[in-house]
Order: sequence, then structure tokens, then C-alpha cells
Amino acid sequence: MNFFIKTFGCQMNVNDSEKIRHLLESKGLTLCAGEAAADVIIINSCAVRQKPQEKIFSYAGRFPAGKKIIVAGCVAQAEKQALFKKKVNVDYVVGTHQFYRIGEIIDEIAAGARAGSAVAFSRRWQELVPDARARSSPVTGFISIMEGCDNFCSYCIVPFTRGREKVRPQAAILREAAYLAERGFKEIVLLGQNVNHWRDPGSGRSFPELLRQLAHRVPVPWIRFITSYPGYHDRELIRVMAENRNIARHIHFPAQSGSTRILKKMCRTYSRSQYLEIVRAFRRVLPGMKFSSDFIVGFPGESDRDFKLTLSLLEQVEYESVFSFIYSPRPRTRAAALVQELPAAVIKERLYALQETQAAIQLKNNRRLLGETIEVLIAEKHPRKAGEVIGRSESYRVINFASRTRVGQFTRVRITGAGPHSLRGEEYRE
Ligand code: SAM
Ligand code: SF4
Repeated sequence: MNFFIKTFGCQMNVNDSEKIRHLLESKGLTLCAGEAAADVIIINSCAVRQKPQEKIFSYAGRFPAGKKIIVAGCVAQAEKQALFKKKVNVDYVVGTHQFYRIGEIIDEIAAGARAGSAVAFSRRWQELVPDARARSSPVTGFISIMEGCDNFCSYCIVPFTRGREKVRPQAAILREAAYLAERGFKEIVLLGQNVNHWRDPGSGRSFPELLRQLAHRVPVPWIRFITSYPGYHDRELIRVMAENRNIARHIHFPAQSGSTRILKKMCRTYSRSQYLEIVRAFRRVLPGMKFSSDFIVGFPGESDRDFKLTLSLLEQVEYESVFSFIYSPRPRTRAAALVQELPAAVIKERLYALQETQAAIQLKNNRRLLGETIEVLIAEKHPRKAGEVIGRSESYRVINFASRTRVGQFTRVRITGAGPHSLRGEEYRE
């Protein structure tokens, strides 16, 4: 039997798809490059915002009868009833805590079982390490260190789709990291909704201590982690990063808003000034420390002044990159009960203004690099330009250049061109 996995959403969903691929390949099934040749299509879905969720419904609806369709992940968890009601040809719905059963589920479907679902939550950590060949990249290895979330930010559906927070023991994390290092991965990315809330269930060791262990014991050049919650910041993290050069000096640190008033309404547990104090604390010790962030615009009650505070936060922190989203009301969340008084046109204007401000900041940051030579990890061959590759800097900037160096190798690149979203360079040869 052949299968195809379509992944929507963040790195966590990509990592879940790697696990699904691993499970199915271990059972002897074959992954195909496209939907056409597949007997089973697994849609690994994201429910964070309404619009992307709708895309999943329309994607699921476009296949002829006869193809077996499994919807897995967050939409499966949150919208099981709707998926069956909409008369989309869905054979099985598999929730976020049940995908490790996907092999048996495919056997049931092949044996002619009727449409069904598996969406129960479990408090137990399900240990599952995808093989190197089941990974989406031969260079970057994802390692899940925790799942779910107990924060209940007022806009967010994640605690309802991924369940309560559960953590993975340190020993298992170290084993997976060592496995990736042995297979030549050049960077590892620790994944979780709030990685800086991780604590080893046995010893009580904190996240900075986990990083220290990884940095000492695992020979990968870049260790990254995503996402850090500003309300859980621990000063020890700065010390560990300063002591260990193999922890990338870049942190994804979602602020969501620059206004303390809106942060309170979002149930985020830090203020603008506390957030800025953490940024300053990092830069006092690590002057080159880089930040990226997520922002939501048009949260109910966001005034012009609140929005200007968000723009001024962008200017103050000078982020490397920013993901910005229009607020989307989500079922079961506290904010869903708030009345949205802002006109859609105003919200859109704010989104564009935020994106323009950030593009100008990135252009300025990128121009500062003109003429400099920086270390770059070659992430992939350029999909359209022969002889060109796409590389990433330590702070995750994109650099395009001509190279014969292999994917997965580090090289030095002299920066010759700078746009807001990428850099151009020449490979440096002594
Ligand atoms: N746990 C991470 C944190 O607290 O920053 C992020 C998790 S969430 C999957 C990724 C991003 O989606 C959030 O940082 C937020 O900016 C955005 N997001 C979540 N819920 C949203 C909503 N209802 N409307 C718009 N954007 C939303
Ligand atoms: Fe959602 Fe907040 Fe948890 Fe992030 S911390 S996953 S935004 S509830």
C-alpha cells in the first residue's frame, strides 16, 4: 500500500508527520511523492486559525471516492463531528494523542471498516523516535521535548487540541539527540509549546540544565529550541547560552502584542516592560543576541495606541523575523466571547503596517551585513536555479549563493546583496 502525507502547520506538525511516516514505513508501506499514486492520504492538520482550517476541509474534499482519507492532528481533534457532517470523503479521524495507532487504523480501513475515529487524550508520554530516513530534512532534526499546553492564552485553541502539558524525560531526549548527531545532522531543534517550562519528570532538572547537557554531550554545531514563553524566562538560560557556543544565539520569543493592556486580555503573564527587560538582559551578556516573534493584530479591544505600542516594540527589539496573524476567534477559547468591534479593513491595514515596519527593520539589519563574511549552513539546493543553494545563518536569515559545497555542510559566505527577506552572497575561498 502507498501513502502520502500532507502537512499543514508548524514544526511540531512536521515532526508528527515524520513520526507517522516512520510508523508506516516500519510496517512496509511506501511513501509516494504525490497524492495521485497514493492509496491512503493522511492529512496532518492545524487548527490554530480558522482560515487555514478551512483549507484543510477543502483539501480533504477534493479526492475521488476510492481514495482512503485520514485526517490527523489538531483539526481532527477539534472538528471530528464537522468533518463527518460536511460529507467530505473522510475514512478516519485520528486525534493528536492517537496517531501512533495509525498503522492498525490503516489495517482496519483496508479490511473494509466503516468510517471511524480515535480522539481520546492520554496523559502518558508516547515515546517514538522517527528514523533518520523518515525525517523531512537530512540537516535539521526535530526533537519533541513536551506536548500540549496549560497556559490557556485567551485566544488559543492549542490546550483543547493538543491537551494538557506533558513532558518527555531527559534521558530519552539525550538519546534522540545523540542518534541525530551520529547520523550527521547539523542542527537539532527542540520542540514544545513552552520549551522553557520543561522540567525532567524524574530529577526535576530545568530547561537550561537540559540545554547544558545537550551542549556538552551532543556534537551538533547548532542547538535550537522553539517556542520560549516570556512568562517562564529563567536567567540561567542566558548563562547557559553564553557558556556554550553550540547553542544558536537566536531565540523565538513570541510577544503577541506590545501593549500590556492587550497582553492582560490575552492572559499572557508578562508585561511589555518585563519582556523588554528580558531582551536587554540577553543583550547585556550576549550583545549579538537575535530575536524573532509572533504577533496577533486586531485582538478585540486593540486601540490605535495599543497597536502603535506593538510597532514600537518591533523597532526597539529589531527582530530578525516576525510571524504576524490577524486575530481569529476559536471555539472554546475565552476570547471567543468577546465582541469584535474593529472593522476588518482596519485590522488588515494594521497587519500591512506591521509587515511594512518589520520589512524595513529586516532590510536595515540585512544591509549591515554587506561586505561581511558569515558562517552559513547549506540547507538545500535552490529548487529552480541550477548551481545555486539556499543557506541559513545562525539567526536563521536566508542566504542565496552559487556553490558546489554539499547540502548539510557549513561554508563561509561574503554578503554582496541585501533585501528585506534574504541575502545574496559569494562563497568565500582563501
Ligand atoms: N506556544 C507558542 C506561544 O505561546 O507563543 C505558540 C503557539 S501557536 C500554535 C503559534 C502562533 O499562532 C501564536 O504565537 C500566535 O501568534 C498565533 N495564534 C494562536 N492563536 C491564534 C488566534 N486565535 N488568532 C490568530 N493567531 C493565533
Ligand atoms: Fe497557545 Fe498560549 Fe499555550 Fe502558546 S502558550 S500554545 S499561545 S495557550
